[in-house]
Amino acid sequence: MEKDIQRELQELVTQIKAHLRYQKDLGIDTLLSRREVSPLPGLDAIRQELGECTRCRLHQGRQRVVFGEGNPGATLCFVGEAPGRDEDLQGRPFVGKAGELLTRIIEAIDLTREEVYIANIIKCRPPENRNPQPDEIDTCLPFLQKQLAAIHPKIICALGTFAAQTLLGTEERISQLRGRFYQYQGALLMPTYHPAFLLRNPQYKRDVWEDMKKIRDEYTKG
Ligand code: URA
Repeated sequence: MEKDIQRELQELVTQIKAHLRYQKDLGIDTLLSRREVSPLPGLDAIRQELGECTRCRLHQGRQRVVFGEGNPGATLCFVGEAPGRDEDLQGRPFVGKAGELLTRIIEAIDLTREEVYIANIIKCRPPENRNPQPDEIDTCLPFLQKQLAAIHPKIICALGTFAAQTLLGTEERISQLRGRFYQYQGALLMPTYHPAFLLRNPQYKRDVWEDMKKIRDEYTKG
């Protein structure tokens, strides 16, 4: 019982911290109502602001910035880790083998890639697909947060450990995090396993299907 309360409090603190960090990244450093701050930029303006980004070292090895793509009014957004080789070459998120599986996952809940929005925490491919470093995340994450603020989805699906831990500001394992909704930027955030992990460990597809059914239920509630 006490453990449950502790866990809930810990989660609350994590979510408040993430929200304040997000507000700060948007340039809001006082607690004002939305009416008192300037209007949020749209996706085109955010893409323009990002430009041919050289803010961190990842620009040195990348071919293309992978901004994200899909429906600017999406109810559901997917967030992955970072572009891989195929994504880097094409400038589009999730177009390799893992992307093909993600497309099938989206279609399994009766949606299409065009109806949702797909992006990553990091917009440039890390060399040899290494894990993004903390300063690279700090530099890049505000752009994703602005994209999510512009789209204002009802549901965000965080794909894999890295996306889930980064967005929720926790080091908890994905196996612990997945399967339930958290609050993130006014949306319901569902962490689940990354499609690339599923390609190597197909036995976890059943868990992802359970998570996707929860997402579908929320999606169809309107
Ligand atoms: N893996 C990711 O996390 N993102 C992509 O865009 C492709 C593979």
